Amino acid sequence: MRADYVGEAIHLRGLVEFSNYCRCNCLYCGLRRENKAVSRYRLQPEELVRTALFAAELGYGTVVLQSGEDLFYTGELLAQIIKEIKAKTNLAITLSVGERTEEEYALWRQAGADRYLIRHETADPALYAALHPQRTQRERVGCLQTLRALGYEVGSGFMVGLPGQSAETLASDLSLLRELDVDMVGIGPFIPSPSTPLAEESGGSFERTVNLVALLRLMLPEANIPATTAMGTLRPNGREIALAAGANVMMPNVTPTRYRPLYEIYPGKICTGEEAGECRLCIEGRIKSIGRTVGQGQGESLKYRKRNAAAGKYA
Ligand code: SAH
Ligand code: SF4
Repeated sequence: MRADYVGEAIHLRGLVEFSNYCRCNCLYCGLRRENKAVSRYRLQPEELVRTALFAAELGYGTVVLQSGEDLFYTGELLAQIIKEIKAKTNLAITLSVGERTEEEYALWRQAGADRYLIRHETADPALYAALHPQRTQRERVGCLQTLRALGYEVGSGFMVGLPGQSAETLASDLSLLRELDVDMVGIGPFIPSPSTPLAEESGGSFERTVNLVALLRLMLPEANIPATTAMGTLRPNGREIALAAGANVMMPNVTPTRYRPLYEIYPGKICTGEEAGECRLCIEGRIKSIGRTVGQGQGESLKYRKRNAAAGKYA
């Protein structure tokens, strides 16, 4: 199915983790606001732009700008950064900065942002409420719908093995993704993070996550599906296994090396010691080792391309 629909190409996204400040308190995440054990950092705007330009130099067609929910980056400031990157490169820009207002999402879209990643995390509303103080699933799903209406290519996803999650919850996760008709889906095992309320819980199963990647490819054959860092963290060749199960995207890190260990959403995260150029070579080697090819261009999802063609946006 993967070969028939999206072919052999694996699209690469240069990932910039530009701030670990976060106003949220998600129970599972090492960057949650109440975790005082984290030294906080943020790239200044010039450094963020420079890092994105470097990603373009390394040959990536897309840059993913990800952070905690950090309001230092106001709507206006992030819009300026997006405009500057767009003016200087041919990069597609994917944002992953959490829940913000519709006005901000619209501003960023007008500034040139192409895509947005915001996982629904879990389709069980009660579990969602238990894991996200002061937040609701309705708001999270509302963000996905707003982003979609604004013309973004949208990505959602969930964690596998959250405490309190059952097989039924996972079935609901799949149904919700189908309902939302997402262009991209990223999933990964839950990995317990020290200094969080879930530190002593057991983590998600690698095998179950791989099976879910395969199910996602069958259910959403035209979607872009990454082999996530969390899968590579549980097994040395975890991402290659995910690629063999149906994934077609990888997200090599381009964050300046000195910040990487501080973006510790979960422990043991891979690729924190390397330079961006080394990551590029490492990922290419992994892709070649399984007989696949590196995708060219911006690598938007087939789903998104067809949707726009149907709406007459491509001549
Ligand atoms: N702040 C933004 C983006 C950064 S968090 C947001 O929350 O949308 C990116 C993703 O990391 C989250 O969507 C979540 O699914 C994942 N994550 C957080 N803590 C994790 C953990 N302990 N194990 C595995 N994945 C985790
Ligand atoms: Fe913040 Fe995202 Fe972590 Fe939640 S998952 S605490 S929003 S960085």
